[in-house]
Amino acid sequence: QKIEPKKDVYVIASDSAFAPFEYQNADGEYVGIDVSLMEAISEMHGFNIRMDFRGFSAALQALESGQADGMIAGMTITDERKKTFDFSDPYFQSGIQIAVKKGNTSIKSYEDLDGKTVGAKVGTESADFLVANQEKYGYEIKYFDAADQLYDSLRVGAIDAMMDDYPVIGYAIKNGQELETPIERETGGSYGFAVKKGENPELLEMFNEGLKELKRTGQYDEIINQYISTDE
Ligand code: GLN
Repeated sequence: QKIEPKKDVYVIASDSAFAPFEYQNADGEYVGIDVSLMEAISEMHGFNIRMDFRGFSAALQALESGQADGMIAGMTITDERKKTFDFSDPYFQSGIQIAVKKGNTSIKSYEDLDGKTVGAKVGTESADFLVANQEKYGYEIKYFDAADQLYDSLRVGAIDAMMDDYPVIGYAIKNGQELETPIERETGGSYGFAVKKGENPELLEMFNEGLKELKRTGQYDEIINQYISTDE
Protein backbone atom coordinates (compact mmCIF):
# COMPACT_ATOMS: atom_id res chain seq x y z
CA GLN A 1 0.00 0.00 0.00
CA LYS A 2 1.06 3.53 -0.73
CA ILE A 3 2.57 5.58 2.09
CA GLU A 4 0.84 8.95 2.49
CA PRO A 5 2.81 12.15 3.01
CA LYS A 6 1.83 13.99 6.20
CA LYS A 7 3.18 17.43 5.33
CA ASP A 8 2.41 19.77 2.42
CA VAL A 9 6.10 20.42 1.90
CA TYR A 10 9.10 18.62 3.36
CA VAL A 11 12.20 20.75 3.84
CA ILE A 12 15.29 18.77 2.90
CA ALA A 13 18.63 20.16 4.07
CA SER A 14 21.74 19.51 2.03
CA ASP A 15 25.35 20.49 1.51
CA SER A 16 26.16 23.52 -0.64
CA ALA A 17 29.13 22.18 -2.61
CA PHE A 18 29.68 18.43 -2.69
CA ALA A 19 29.99 17.51 -6.34
CA PRO A 20 28.84 15.18 -7.81
CA PHE A 21 26.19 14.78 -5.07
CA GLU A 22 25.04 18.40 -4.89
CA TYR A 23 26.57 21.44 -6.56
CA GLN A 24 25.62 24.45 -8.66
CA ASN A 25 25.97 24.02 -12.40
CA ALA A 26 26.99 26.79 -14.81
CA ASP A 27 23.43 28.15 -14.72
CA GLY A 28 23.48 28.35 -10.94
CA GLU A 29 21.03 25.47 -10.54
CA TYR A 30 21.69 22.82 -7.95
CA VAL A 31 22.19 19.43 -9.53
CA GLY A 32 23.79 16.13 -8.57
CA ILE A 33 23.11 12.58 -7.48
CA ASP A 34 21.39 13.52 -4.21
CA VAL A 35 19.27 16.15 -5.97
CA SER A 36 18.16 13.72 -8.69
CA LEU A 37 17.40 10.91 -6.22
CA MET A 38 15.36 13.22 -4.00
CA GLU A 39 13.43 14.63 -6.96
CA ALA A 40 12.71 11.20 -8.44
CA ILE A 41 11.55 9.79 -5.10
CA SER A 42 9.33 12.76 -4.25
CA GLU A 43 7.72 12.63 -7.68
CA MET A 44 7.14 8.91 -7.37
CA HIS A 45 5.40 9.25 -4.00
CA GLY A 46 3.66 12.53 -4.80
CA PHE A 47 5.12 14.62 -1.99
CA ASN A 48 6.54 18.13 -2.20
CA ILE A 49 10.05 19.07 -1.19
CA ARG A 50 11.94 22.28 -0.72
CA MET A 51 15.68 21.70 -0.92
CA ASP A 52 17.83 23.87 1.32
CA PHE A 53 21.49 23.77 0.24
CA ARG A 54 23.01 25.30 3.34
CA GLY A 55 26.30 23.43 3.83
CA PHE A 56 27.05 20.17 5.62
CA SER A 57 27.38 21.14 9.28
CA ALA A 58 24.61 23.73 8.92
CA ALA A 59 22.39 21.00 7.45
CA LEU A 60 23.12 18.72 10.43
CA GLN A 61 22.10 21.54 12.77
CA ALA A 62 18.94 22.28 10.77
CA LEU A 63 17.88 18.65 10.98
CA GLU A 64 18.65 18.43 14.69
CA SER A 65 16.73 21.61 15.50
CA GLY A 66 13.73 20.67 13.38
CA GLN A 67 14.23 23.44 10.81
CA ALA A 68 14.55 20.67 8.24
CA ASP A 69 12.48 17.48 7.95
CA GLY A 70 15.11 15.44 6.17
CA MET A 71 18.71 15.60 5.05
CA ILE A 72 20.52 14.28 2.00
CA ALA A 73 24.13 15.39 1.71
CA GLY A 74 26.40 12.47 0.98
CA MET A 75 25.99 11.82 4.69
CA THR A 76 27.74 8.75 6.02
CA ILE A 77 25.71 6.42 8.22
CA THR A 78 27.66 6.16 11.50
CA ASP A 79 26.83 4.71 14.92
CA GLU A 80 27.45 8.09 16.51
CA ARG A 81 24.97 9.81 14.20
CA LYS A 82 22.41 7.04 14.73
CA LYS A 83 22.04 8.35 18.29
CA THR A 84 20.52 11.55 16.87
CA PHE A 85 19.16 10.57 13.46
CA ASP A 86 17.29 7.72 11.76
CA PHE A 87 18.87 6.68 8.47
CA SER A 88 17.41 5.24 5.30
CA ASP A 89 18.79 2.15 3.65
CA PRO A 90 22.28 2.93 2.30
CA TYR A 91 22.25 4.44 -1.19
CA PHE A 92 25.94 4.84 -2.01
CA GLN A 93 29.15 3.15 -0.83
CA SER A 94 31.88 5.70 -0.13
CA GLY A 95 35.15 6.25 1.73
CA ILE A 96 37.55 9.00 2.71
CA GLN A 97 40.96 9.90 1.37
CA ILE A 98 43.87 12.33 1.77
CA ALA A 99 44.58 14.67 -1.15
CA VAL A 100 47.60 16.88 -1.73
CA LYS A 101 48.44 19.46 -4.34
CA LYS A 102 49.50 17.88 -7.63
CA GLY A 103 53.27 17.58 -7.77
CA ASN A 104 53.73 17.46 -4.00
CA THR A 105 56.19 14.60 -3.53
CA SER A 106 56.81 15.07 0.20
CA ILE A 107 53.61 13.33 1.35
CA LYS A 108 53.35 9.64 0.49
CA SER A 109 52.01 8.17 3.72
CA TYR A 110 50.20 9.25 6.87
CA GLU A 111 53.60 9.36 8.63
CA ASP A 112 54.68 12.12 6.23
CA LEU A 113 51.92 14.35 7.65
CA ASP A 114 53.99 14.86 10.83
CA GLY A 115 54.21 18.61 11.50
CA LYS A 116 51.99 19.38 8.52
CA THR A 117 48.54 21.02 8.42
CA VAL A 118 45.62 18.95 7.17
CA GLY A 119 42.22 20.44 6.37
CA ALA A 120 38.72 19.01 6.49
CA LYS A 121 35.13 20.22 6.59
CA VAL A 122 33.56 20.75 10.01
CA GLY A 123 31.45 17.87 11.28
CA THR A 124 32.45 15.37 8.61
CA GLU A 125 33.68 11.79 8.76
CA SER A 126 37.04 13.11 7.49
CA ALA A 127 37.29 15.55 10.39
CA ASP A 128 36.52 12.72 12.85
CA PHE A 129 39.16 10.50 11.25
CA LEU A 130 41.75 13.27 11.49
CA VAL A 131 40.97 13.87 15.17
CA ALA A 132 41.14 10.14 15.94
CA ASN A 133 44.57 9.79 14.31
CA GLN A 134 46.11 13.14 15.18
CA GLU A 135 48.34 11.94 18.02
CA LYS A 136 49.57 8.99 16.03
CA TYR A 137 50.70 11.06 13.05
CA GLY A 138 51.33 14.50 14.57
CA TYR A 139 49.62 16.91 12.18
CA GLU A 140 47.62 20.07 12.82
CA ILE A 141 43.97 20.11 11.76
CA LYS A 142 42.33 23.08 10.11
CA TYR A 143 38.54 23.14 9.79
CA PHE A 144 36.51 24.70 6.98
CA ASP A 145 32.78 25.35 6.63
CA ALA A 146 32.60 24.72 2.91
CA ALA A 147 34.43 22.73 0.28
CA ASP A 148 35.48 25.71 -1.84
CA GLN A 149 37.43 27.16 1.10
CA LEU A 150 39.01 23.78 1.78
CA TYR A 151 40.06 23.12 -1.83
CA ASP A 152 41.22 26.74 -2.33
CA SER A 153 43.38 26.57 0.79
CA LEU A 154 45.14 23.50 -0.55
CA ARG A 155 45.61 25.13 -3.94
CA VAL A 156 47.26 28.25 -2.48
CA GLY A 157 49.35 26.22 -0.04
CA ALA A 158 47.65 27.41 3.17
CA ILE A 159 47.32 23.74 4.13
CA ASP A 160 49.58 20.82 3.14
CA ALA A 161 46.89 18.20 2.70
CA MET A 162 43.17 17.73 3.02
CA MET A 163 40.76 14.89 3.61
CA ASP A 164 37.40 14.41 1.91
CA ASP A 165 35.18 11.68 0.50
CA TYR A 166 36.98 9.92 -2.34
CA PRO A 167 34.24 10.22 -5.00
CA VAL A 168 34.24 13.97 -4.39
CA ILE A 169 38.02 14.26 -4.72
CA GLY A 170 37.84 12.01 -7.78
CA TYR A 171 35.23 14.23 -9.37
CA ALA A 172 37.34 17.33 -8.66
CA ILE A 173 40.41 15.72 -10.30
CA LYS A 174 38.34 14.69 -13.33
CA ASN A 175 37.23 18.27 -13.65
CA GLY A 176 40.73 19.62 -13.77
CA GLN A 177 41.57 20.40 -10.16
CA GLU A 178 45.29 20.03 -9.49
CA LEU A 179 45.12 17.35 -6.83
CA GLU A 180 46.51 13.91 -6.25
CA THR A 181 45.81 11.12 -3.80
CA PRO A 182 49.10 9.52 -2.69
CA ILE A 183 47.62 7.54 0.22
CA GLU A 184 45.21 4.66 -0.23
CA ARG A 185 41.68 5.54 0.78
CA GLU A 186 39.94 4.42 3.95
CA THR A 187 37.07 2.16 3.08
CA GLY A 188 34.29 4.13 4.61
CA GLY A 189 30.66 3.81 5.26
CA SER A 190 27.66 4.27 3.07
CA TYR A 191 25.57 7.33 2.51
CA GLY A 192 22.06 7.53 3.85
CA PHE A 193 19.11 9.88 3.81
CA ALA A 194 18.34 11.00 7.38
CA VAL A 195 15.52 12.34 9.53
CA LYS A 196 15.70 13.40 13.16
CA LYS A 197 15.38 10.37 15.44
CA GLY A 198 11.73 9.42 15.75
CA GLU A 199 10.49 12.22 13.46
CA ASN A 200 8.92 12.06 10.00
CA PRO A 201 8.90 8.24 9.82
CA GLU A 202 6.69 8.33 6.72
CA LEU A 203 9.33 10.42 4.92
CA LEU A 204 12.00 7.84 5.70
CA GLU A 205 9.71 5.06 4.55
CA MET A 206 8.90 6.84 1.29
CA PHE A 207 12.63 7.32 0.68
CA ASN A 208 13.33 3.62 1.24
CA GLU A 209 10.43 2.52 -0.94
CA GLY A 210 11.42 5.00 -3.64
CA LEU A 211 15.05 3.93 -3.59
CA LYS A 212 14.05 0.29 -4.04
CA GLU A 213 11.83 1.23 -6.95
CA LEU A 214 14.56 3.36 -8.60
CA LYS A 215 16.94 0.43 -8.30
CA ARG A 216 14.39 -1.98 -9.72
CA THR A 217 13.65 0.18 -12.75
CA GLY A 218 17.29 1.00 -13.48
CA GLN A 219 16.72 4.72 -12.83
CA TYR A 220 19.14 4.59 -9.91
CA ASP A 221 21.95 3.40 -12.20
CA GLU A 222 21.04 6.03 -14.76
CA ILE A 223 21.37 8.78 -12.17
CA ILE A 224 24.71 7.47 -10.87
CA ASN A 225 26.10 6.99 -14.39
CA GLN A 226 25.11 10.50 -15.34
CA TYR A 227 27.55 11.82 -12.73
CA ILE A 228 30.11 9.08 -12.19
CA SER A 229 31.65 7.16 -15.05
CA THR A 230 31.89 3.47 -14.38
CA ASP A 231 35.31 3.05 -16.03
CA GLU A 232 37.02 3.80 -12.69
N1 GLN B 1 30.38 11.68 3.96
C1 GLN B 1 30.94 12.67 4.82
C2 GLN B 1 30.21 12.70 6.14
O1 GLN B 1 29.13 12.23 6.24
C3 GLN B 1 31.00 14.05 4.20
C4 GLN B 1 29.67 14.61 3.78
C5 GLN B 1 29.76 16.00 3.22
O2 GLN B 1 30.77 16.69 3.34
N2 GLN B 1 28.70 16.46 2.58
O3 GLN B 1 30.73 13.20 7.10
